[in-house]
Amino acid sequence: MKQIAVMSGKGGAGKTSVAAALIKLLPAVIAVDADVNASNLPILLQPEERIEEDAFFGTDIAQIRSESCSHCGQCQKICAFDAISISSQGNYVVNNNCEGCAACVWICPSQSIHTVPYRCGTQYFSRIENGYLIHADLNPGADNSGKLIAATRAQSMELAQTKNFGIILIDGPPGTSCQAISSLTGVDLVLVVLEESLSGLSDYRRLAKLMDHFRLPHLVLLNKAGIDSNVSTKLERCVADCDGTIAARIPFDPDIPQALARLETLIDMPRYRSEIEKLCEQMLQRL
Ligand code: SF4
Ligand code: SF4
Repeated sequence: MKQIAVMSGKGGAGKTSVAAALIKLLPAVIAVDADVNASNLPILLQPEERIEEDAFFGTDIAQIRSESCSHCGQCQKICAFDAISISSQGNYVVNNNCEGCAACVWICPSQSIHTVPYRCGTQYFSRIENGYLIHADLNPGADNSGKLIAATRAQSMELAQTKNFGIILIDGPPGTSCQAISSLTGVDLVLVVLEESLSGLSDYRRLAKLMDHFRLPHLVLLNKAGIDSNVSTKLERCVADCDGTIAARIPFDPDIPQALARLETLIDMPRYRSEIEKLCEQMLQRL
């Protein structure tokens, strides 16, 4: 089983639309949407049937039993996150700032505090035409995004083994945060969707450092290309310096967002299909 991550240094580079095109092209694939804060891959893939929906629980959080609380206030004093307040009824209560460190559990003289599981998202498992899609939604403002991504990836690997799938394709989050790290670790190849712009160049440098740290080989799809030849030259040099290979180019084309609005991807546009097919072949050869 081989894993490919499609990444980009910045949002809006076209990562998800490229990932969706590649997923549609592969004969059999397990697709993972690891952008758990803005999961858009299902919109483009339009899964045929939802098989499972599971609650995702992150770090446990504290809960106070007001019946046995003696109002000593020690929990509020020790909490470094300002997560314990006093309700209008005068009870000590845990608010949304709780990080689950359990210091209050340890200090409470009347054992009135315990930790409970906290649901912070949902994992989905669906069937697509040529395989399966695993994606997840993290609740707004919730922590544990890295843990949720790790859980979706673990589910995809288990599924690949039981259903005998050879390729897992991960649509990663933009940037270089812990979510990106959680999406990248252990993959066999990264495809970077690089927007031809100065901000694209700056963010690619950061992503290249991350990939270098994990010793991950990468190919590059240069997207929205052809606007400025100076920027293009800078990007080409930078990709070469970072041991990347430009494997495909898609020009800036206002027809592409219109196609996406119709839920079409690059392989549904005859002028780009062969470029994506060639890219897909190169990716498979590198595995
Ligand atoms: S578990 Fe930690 S963060 Fe949460 S309320 Fe207790 S002391 Fe504060
Ligand atoms: S430490 Fe325990 S007893 Fe004291 S206020 Fe907090 S919950 Fe109540």
